[in-house]
Amino acid sequence: MILTNARILTFDAGNRVVDSGEVEIRDDGTVGSVGQGSWPPQSEVVDAHGKLMMPALINGHTHLYSTLARGISLPGRPPRNFKEILKKLWWRLDRALTADDVYYSALIGLIDSAKCGVGTLIDHHSSPNACAGSLDRIAQAFREVGLRGALCYETSDRNGAAAAAEGIRENIRFIESARCERLMGATFGLHAAFTLTDQTLRRAVEANQSLRAGFHIHVAEDACDAGAVRRLRDLGVLDEKTLAAHAIHVTAADRKILAKLRVNVIHNPQSNCNNAVGAANLLELFRKGVLVGLGSDGYTPRMWDEFKTAFHVQKLQAGDPRVAYAEAYAAAFLNNRAIVKKVFGMEIGRIETGAQADLILVDYFPPTPIDSGNLFGHILFGIANAPVDSLMVNGRWVVRDRQCVNVDEPHMAEKAAAQARALWERF
Ligand SMILES: [Zn+2]
Repeated sequence: MILTNARILTFDAGNRVVDSGEVEIRDDGTVGSVGQGSWPPQSEVVDAHGKLMMPALINGHTHLYSTLARGISLPGRPPRNFKEILKKLWWRLDRALTADDVYYSALIGLIDSAKCGVGTLIDHHSSPNACAGSLDRIAQAFREVGLRGALCYETSDRNGAAAAAEGIRENIRFIESARCERLMGATFGLHAAFTLTDQTLRRAVEANQSLRAGFHIHVAEDACDAGAVRRLRDLGVLDEKTLAAHAIHVTAADRKILAKLRVNVIHNPQSNCNNAVGAANLLELFRKGVLVGLGSDGYTPRMWDEFKTAFHVQKLQAGDPRVAYAEAYAAAFLNNRAIVKKVFGMEIGRIETGAQADLILVDYFPPTPIDSGNLFGHILFGIANAPVDSLMVNGRWVVRDRQCVNVDEPHMAEKAAAQARALWERF
């Protein structure tokens, strides 16, 4: 297939902007030539009508199981702090989930994400009363919508030792099965240091020795988890494949450890604002050389909004209008793809020969000059506000004309709503 007449933000090594160009999509789902080429006459040609083309977005940390909580009401007084939010909302919700809830929750979350231009999601799942096989139901939803992802099960001792052991088993089972799937990766999920015993952490590390998956864990999201970095380091959880979500309540010494062990930190600024837990110090993490990507923590499917919030929060925190341009841009558009490559070996996030054809077309027609040096301003003030017209993942259309092409969204939303009604009654 040849996509013609697109303004291409390549995000390649030279960060080229091609004002009106063509991209060849090979049958194997990778990008062929970029720019102007001569194509075989039998090629399928798709006119992008001057829309802006750029790599599909990546969500570095999310919880698809949270989707059916939209609009739910909590009984009693509102939670006063992070631990109460977990106890009153998320740990009650995850215990109430059935295998079908897990599937519909993932399906709707993925439809929403696709329509916002997100092609890859790294998910962190929990459903303690429907644990075994739960990751297969999520993988099924990924396949049906047509997205790329990496899954894990959130091992925790908060529901007892048997549930923790079952969580470890689900991770092992899925890591082994995901090896056969081209669009699917796996991490080894752990909830957070403060709900895991040393014994469970040791078991997870031991089980992962031959699997060599990256651990995916919440780290120092709230003050109640301060000290997590040193404990996890001492138990052997942290290495260059680890995904550490949040890293808010960390010391300068902790940041040094994260940098030295080449741990990947995932920043989730909107969720952090919502939970009032503080914000990671992106500027200091970058200064120390920590690779920081960006996720939504399940708060929103719109990674554009996370990018904006990452930028705004750092400026507000530093009290300095000059900061955070490089960091917010790098986290969203460069580091997320580096993390996906490092942890799963998937080459995405650029439009150049040989890369996976994961891209979006956006209804954005720049009213001011655009070049490789001013993408930040165009993304922040223009592209992030423009509708995503199309999403392609692995060379296949997922969204066209702002609609998911592989699933019937209104029908699925109706089924999800019935599912959610029953879930809320059990909640
Ligand atoms: Zn999270």
